[in-house]
Amino acid sequence: MTKRILRSMLLVSAIVLALGFAMTLGILYQYFSGELEQELKQEAEYLSAAVEGQGPDYLEELTDTEGRITLIDSDGKVLFDNTADKEKMENHKDREEFKEALSNGIGQAERVSKTLSEKTVYYARRLPNQQVLRVSTTHYTVLALVSGLIQPICYVILAMLILAGVFAYRLSKRIVDPINQLDLETPENNKAYDEIAPLLSKISSQQKEIRRQLSVAKRQQEEFTIITENMQEGLLVIDTHTSVLSLNSSALRFFGTVENPGRESVYALNRSGSFQKLIEACLSGHHSTAELQLTGRNCQLIANPVLRGGVVQGAVILMVDITEKIQRENLRREFTANVSHELKTPLTSISGFAEIIRDGYVKPEDVKKFAGNIFRESQRLITLVGDIIKISQLDEGSVPYQKENTDLYNVVKEVYTSLEGAAEASGIRLYLEGGHQKVMTVKPILTEILYNLCDNAIKYNRQGGTVTVTLGSGEDGAARIDIADTGIGIAEEEQQRVFERFYRVDKSHSKEIGGTGLGLSIVKHGAAYLGMEVKLCSVPGEGTVVTLEL
Ligand code: ADP
Repeated sequence: MTKRILRSMLLVSAIVLALGFAMTLGILYQYFSGELEQELKQEAEYLSAAVEGQGPDYLEELTDTEGRITLIDSDGKVLFDNTADKEKMENHKDREEFKEALSNGIGQAERVSKTLSEKTVYYARRLPNQQVLRVSTTHYTVLALVSGLIQPICYVILAMLILAGVFAYRLSKRIVDPINQLDLETPENNKAYDEIAPLLSKISSQQKEIRRQLSVAKRQQEEFTIITENMQEGLLVIDTHTSVLSLNSSALRFFGTVENPGRESVYALNRSGSFQKLIEACLSGHHSTAELQLTGRNCQLIANPVLRGGVVQGAVILMVDITEKIQRENLRREFTANVSHELKTPLTSISGFAEIIRDGYVKPEDVKKFAGNIFRESQRLITLVGDIIKISQLDEGSVPYQKENTDLYNVVKEVYTSLEGAAEASGIRLYLEGGHQKVMTVKPILTEILYNLCDNAIKYNRQGGTVTVTLGSGEDGAARIDIADTGIGIAEEEQQRVFERFYRVDKSHSKEIGGTGLGLSIVKHGAAYLGMEVKLCSVPGEGTVVTLEL
């Protein structure tokens, strides 16, 4: 701005200077020309009067005249000229000033030299004897004057321009400085020029509006970040060129990276064919879904195109971890298949026994035995169905019991009482160590867990073995129950699997002794429901210890 003001000022100064000089020159020239003409007129009048009185000889006597004096006869013949030989001079009858003087008494003319540098002014007067007295003087033309003065004029203009430049610079700085020093953070506090007050108040109101919009945008951005960062699901937003516009940390976790890819293509995160197909379908305007294996997890991707005015602008992709859902589905499928199989076996037996009794193939003395078989298989079926119901209830968390203050010693006592017969049949002695200890728990579930563990400890024991339940407390002071037996033990590679539904180490043996394969599974689910930890420690041939930490 300073430069612009400076340039304008210099230009104006130059124009004003040039015009000033031209006008001054013109005025001076006009003034001096007028003066010269006046002098010429007076000289002509004096000389005319003298010639009239003293005759033409008067002219011969004049020696100190500055101008040219010519006496012309009425026919144009030059009678006298003080600067040239009258004999050599041509006839003047056609000269403008001569003709004018003859007819009007006074004649006047100007003639410029061929080089245009000089101008001669003529003034003629008719004498009473019809002769014409002409005086003339020569001076420089404006052009000659200008060309003669051009150098000094240029110097003066240059000096004036330098001076004007210095003043213009200082002036423009003085004009611009207050504008440069404006505090645009608080525009209304500035007192620079009244003329820019409306502009400052406009800037101030616009700044307020910008600040308001920025804070709204910031708040929305923060809300968006809080929501997306607290989502378990991955969220990914891309544009039509597949460049990532936004993604949350869950999405990064799904792709197994911690580094934000910035505006890179989403294919930098995953290059699999299914992922590319999903993105392409979505960017062509179709809602699409895909299931991918990402970092060992099953992930469902739901892609929605973002449309504006019917045109695809990008895509929003939601990533959901469905690993557990798939596992649950697999388990359920497996469970259903197992349940069907487990139910079918005793039912087939029952049906078979009933059929041969009906058809009369059984001797009357054997009917009792066959009825006993039917009864045993039905009991198995009842136990199995009971176990399935328990496990389903634990699975769904729909156990109809409340927590209560429970004495562990009494619970184990109750369990031992109900298992007394089974233990006696195998010659197994039951021991209970530790004193009374109370915990807040769901008593029926704890009873079921302890019953299953003690039942297994008896079932998979050796003839004449022992089962010892020890009540104590763990390192952190929590209640702890150890169920130890002196039985067949479980091989190390089976120790985790025995907790799976329907898993048995020796299927035929388990069935023989009335096992359903669901006992330890109920223990696992029940313990999880009560917030207990189950540990199994076993040595084949020596025995098993199951520890419950409450
Ligand atoms: P089951 O109804 O067959 O007993 P469980 O789920 O209770 O089913 O146990 C699964 C399998 O684990 C059993 O079939 C058995 O082979 C093994 N098992 C469970 N407890 C013991 C134990 N105390 N000692 C040895 N093996 C055991």
